[in-house]
Amino acid sequence: MFDAAPRPISTPRESLLSTTCPYCGVGCGVKASAAAATNGVSGDANHPANLGRLCVKGTALGETLSLDGRLLHPVMEGVRVGWDTALDRVADEFSRAIATHGPDSVAFYVSGQMLTEDYYVANKLMKGFIGAANIDTNSRLCMSSSVAGHVRAFGSDTVPGCYEDLELADLVVLVGSNAAWCHPVLFQRILAARTARPEMRIVVIDPRRTATAEAADLHLALRPGSDVALFNGLLAHLADADCADQIFIDNHTDGLDAALSAARATQDVAGLCDLDPADLTRFYDWFAVTTKTVTVYSQGVNQSSAGTDKVNAIINCHLYTGRIGWPGMGPLSFTGQPNAMGGREVGGLANMLAAHMGFDHVGIDRVRRFWNAPAMAHKSGLKAVDLFQAVHDGRIKALWIIATNPAATLTDTNFVREALATCPFVVVSEAVEATDSTLSAHVMLPALAWGEKDGTVTNSERRISRQRAFLPPPGEARADWAIICDVATRMGFGDAFAYRSPAAIFAEHCRLSAFENDGSRDFDLGGLIGCDYDRIAPVQWPVRTLNAGTARLFGNGRFYHPDSRARFIATAARPPRSATSPEFPLILNTGRTRDQWHTMTRTGKSPRLSAHRAEPWLAMHHADAEAAGLIEGDLVRIASAHGAAVLKLTLDASQRRGEVFAPMHWNDQFAANANIGRLIAPHTDPISGQPELKFTPVCVAAITTHWQAMLLTRSAPKLDGMAVNWVRAAGMEHTIMRLSGLAPVANWRQMLGEMLGGPENWVTFTDSRRGLFRATRLIDGKLDAVLFAAPSADESALAWLGSLFSQDQIPAPEHIAVLADMPAGEAAQDCGPIVCACHQVGRTTIVHAIANQGLTSVDAIGAAVQAGTNCGSCIPELRQILAQTPAVAAA
Ligand code: SF4
Repeated sequence: MFDAAPRPISTPRESLLSTTCPYCGVGCGVKASAAAATNGVSGDANHPANLGRLCVKGTALGETLSLDGRLLHPVMEGVRVGWDTALDRVADEFSRAIATHGPDSVAFYVSGQMLTEDYYVANKLMKGFIGAANIDTNSRLCMSSSVAGHVRAFGSDTVPGCYEDLELADLVVLVGSNAAWCHPVLFQRILAARTARPEMRIVVIDPRRTATAEAADLHLALRPGSDVALFNGLLAHLADADCADQIFIDNHTDGLDAALSAARATQDVAGLCDLDPADLTRFYDWFAVTTKTVTVYSQGVNQSSAGTDKVNAIINCHLYTGRIGWPGMGPLSFTGQPNAMGGREVGGLANMLAAHMGFDHVGIDRVRRFWNAPAMAHKSGLKAVDLFQAVHDGRIKALWIIATNPAATLTDTNFVREALATCPFVVVSEAVEATDSTLSAHVMLPALAWGEKDGTVTNSERRISRQRAFLPPPGEARADWAIICDVATRMGFGDAFAYRSPAAIFAEHCRLSAFENDGSRDFDLGGLIGCDYDRIAPVQWPVRTLNAGTARLFGNGRFYHPDSRARFIATAARPPRSATSPEFPLILNTGRTRDQWHTMTRTGKSPRLSAHRAEPWLAMHHADAEAAGLIEGDLVRIASAHGAAVLKLTLDASQRRGEVFAPMHWNDQFAANANIGRLIAPHTDPISGQPELKFTPVCVAAITTHWQAMLLTRSAPKLDGMAVNWVRAAGMEHTIMRLSGLAPVANWRQMLGEMLGGPENWVTFTDSRRGLFRATRLIDGKLDAVLFAAPSADESALAWLGSLFSQDQIPAPEHIAVLADMPAGEAAQDCGPIVCACHQVGRTTIVHAIANQGLTSVDAIGAAVQAGTNCGSCIPELRQILAQTPAVAAA
């Protein structure tokens, strides 16, 4: 029955080819070849999204391509099996559950990391052949509120504008977007435009003073969750200031009276938003007088129990002023993932059907006829949070997770882990062997990773680009689309899933988008039918005629509601679902850090990317820390009503009082107890189903530690059962473990033996008075492991120690120097925490250069030490350091 082998796979290319970055929704073009792991990758100068630029994550893609930790063979109940055995089991379990309990007893949980072709066949199998709509995606956590807001306003999930608008605008408003870290290439495009046209303004609306806010002309640090009030206030202000585009409103919209009435009902906006009234008025005045305004919104808007209303409150202001669909103006949603948009195109959300058609009679009948489907779903399926509730309470009997890690990234992940542990059958398609979710899998199917996959992705401006394979498939790993088709075949649907290539799937995807469309639906790839798949150039949909993409929509005033008119939506300001209490007095906000991606399965392999923020941290305002008796570097336990995590405290003046921030990346593979999802309540937006990931009441308390240590080692230490909190990061030829002792150590040598085993040839140094313990082990003259323990963390020798791992032999003086913590001879001076990851320039180096050379600008820092001269991701941090560092001598 195994029919995987005959399907052709892409051959790896020796020459440079054009592909697309697999991280954020900017969708940068990348040039890569089979030698990328050694030669690295570069930006594609011909790709319209980035014009050759890459951020630090994209630049480091070559460092993430190793096969360490890859899942390379099918595994069933912990035992390696052949593909036939694994696929038979998956098909049998799903078929049995459907036969016994009905089609709603099975579910797929998929990912914005999948390619469009993978997504298409997964959606087709569930909604047309299994007969349920229980396929949802981690994009639910990312931008489903934007989708719902678009559909309410426009009648379709349409992003009206494009990236070029960011450069043409005179005012760019970034709402809930730390674009400097999360969409760096677009942020650099915005900054470059402002440099070219200094009259251009940037406003950032975000509770935190982020790197993005640092570069803004105006930062509104609003109360978390008060965005609807702020934009209701703007709509009322625009009406009072006579800014209506009355012809546009009369001819192309409905619902203004109700929306304006709701907006006017929002009183004391400055008080609700906790903003200086003068700052608020300045923003309102700028918006009122600036025709070319783009409003960008991202996860800070979407990840909220009022996310859909926030999106519509923003869109209302653009409809009122007629600023939509024209160059340099409009609302613009930044998506988090590389193919969140592609997932929306195929219908990969449980409340969409396919190709931007919904669960109405016409749509269901049309798709049924197109697919010749025997069992069409007739209603929406379970959205992500509800889906895992259904797994937990036993309604879902078989679950297929593809390219995502819900045990780490969903809300209330303790609950999700319980659900996975009790689900009768869980299959996980993964490129990585050990994730928090694979632990619960009955069957693990090895999938291709970036560099090995062939297909298409769509970025935030509706631009479809090819991802091309430049590496051979490792082990027995296979493409997701091929795995899904083989399971569908085993379930009896072979005729409908007999694709020989992703090109064949894409061709069908194009035909479905154009089927009985005639301009009635926004998503239309009719112009790509019959195209040469290998030669598709980046193009923005709709593509109604050959090679003719569409940069902007709605400039003609035609929307996709049946009457072609857009809708104003009445939005009432309401608070987040949770509230602080004496037990949980602080508000936790979560988000991304600059140099990591999602659960770190790829970026966590890069020493360069691991150097910027090596440990999971909790950012807290100095005054809150002082009130709680906490100091910088304390190990703290942060807890909510749902769970707890252990993080390092960072004092951060960019935090509002009473609010803390933690990154979302760390999970059980990279830290002992830092999965922030454990704390988040499963509250969702009532329309989009998107969880409220940015507002969780918490408490914070110090944890007593008896020692801190850094352990650099070539082999993985065993830490189970030890009274140690640990964090793992990548070094060049070693792993860096940061350890915090939760109990005193009676016998360090014994502990080292238990941790690392191997030969007992440790050389140690103890200074009882200062509480220091140091140990090194050489194997065949090479440094195998080194441990530095002290009462408090001291990483001043980290870079130097790391450099010793690349030496073939450690001479005796240097070995002694290791124990003495002194670089021998001309050994490297420590550069401090890495700020510029591209050139590995540390904070200490930068501070010294500013102070000693009298540097006064970011450009001058770049000229002196190279920092900030490649991708630009660190420029906001360089500005901060510049502001904090007095120059002591003119150059
Ligand atoms: Fe990749 Fe960075 Fe471009 Fe995003 S901005 S697509 S992470 S290179």
